[in-house]
Amino acid sequence: MAEMIDDALVLRGARFPGRYLQGPGAINQTASEAAAFATVALVLLDGGVFDLFAPRLRDLFDGAVKAEILRFGGESSEAAIAEVTARLARSGAGVVIGVGGGKALDTAKAAAFRAGLPLIIVPTIAASDAPCSALSVIYNEDGSVDRDLFLPRNPDLVLVDTAIIAQAPPRFLAAGIGDALATWYEAESCRKSGAKNCLGLPGLPVAYAIARECREAVLTFGREALAECDTCRPGPAIERVVEANILLSGLGFESGGVAAAHAIHHGLTELDEVHHALHGEKVAIGILAGLLLNGESEEFDRIRRFLAEVRLPVSLADIGIVEVNEEKLQRVARRACRAGEIIHNEPFAVTEAMVVKALRALT
Ligand SMILES: [Zn+2]
Repeated sequence: MAEMIDDALVLRGARFPGRYLQGPGAINQTASEAAAFATVALVLLDGGVFDLFAPRLRDLFDGAVKAEILRFGGESSEAAIAEVTARLARSGAGVVIGVGGGKALDTAKAAAFRAGLPLIIVPTIAASDAPCSALSVIYNEDGSVDRDLFLPRNPDLVLVDTAIIAQAPPRFLAAGIGDALATWYEAESCRKSGAKNCLGLPGLPVAYAIARECREAVLTFGREALAECDTCRPGPAIERVVEANILLSGLGFESGGVAAAHAIHHGLTELDEVHHALHGEKVAIGILAGLLLNGESEEFDRIRRFLAEVRLPVSLADIGIVEVNEEKLQRVARRACRAGEIIHNEPFAVTEAMVVKALRALT
């Protein structure tokens, strides 16, 4: 049955960022790459790394491209996006460059889209696959998630400096491994069920091949990459894992589709005590719960060992849920299983009771 759906002669789709460059010192290409788009740029620089990178970026732009560097702090909210969009209009910028982590990049993506301008993304951590995607998460001013903004196109260029990522705390790289590892399990579920990807279409075989390579890369090089990150120097394992965390995971999830691991992540965000946990750390719990839902007990044991080795959570207590009770598990399950949620991309019917049971096994 699953194979029949997979072979269906239907319209399929995949999406990609325009270009992807990765290596130590890649940030030095920012100005020359921006020059291919425009002579005036607006750089939205994450407040968390502003002091670290603003002088370097100013030096880089001391030439053909005139750049205004804007400090980003706070939420990726409608107000922040409107402010950046207005600034873009005033500055006459012809290209937007987002530098930093999650919310700064989400804001840069949304503002570039609103202003109709090309977008360059320069992630300074590899904690998730967000840099490559055509998706921007919009937050309320209080930090809660408002909605996902789906964009008509992916960033025009993703520029990943592995020397910078090697100097970031290893916890971010580990979280990215969690997000990347989920990709194949979720894409495979979508392939089996015939579920749609982020274009609203069934995926092409390339998506599943990329997702498989993503999983192989993190399983093979994850431990060594963290050891390299501990020394703050880039190395061959970091190169492979960063490619998996940012590029392969991004392509795999958008073109392959998402399922239980991310649905359970969404469910976990219902609980206040997990708010300090990074996206990929919650996704790691989602992978384990998803494997239990799928009855994959051998793979569950193997992946649980691997997650522990790459410093990722393997129990609810590890992400802050120390006091587990029925009410909390029900809340997570209800959110994960609501109508239209991606958990229903699994190739079998998933109920709240099944999710509660899987979560209880992670206490
Ligand atoms: Zn994710």
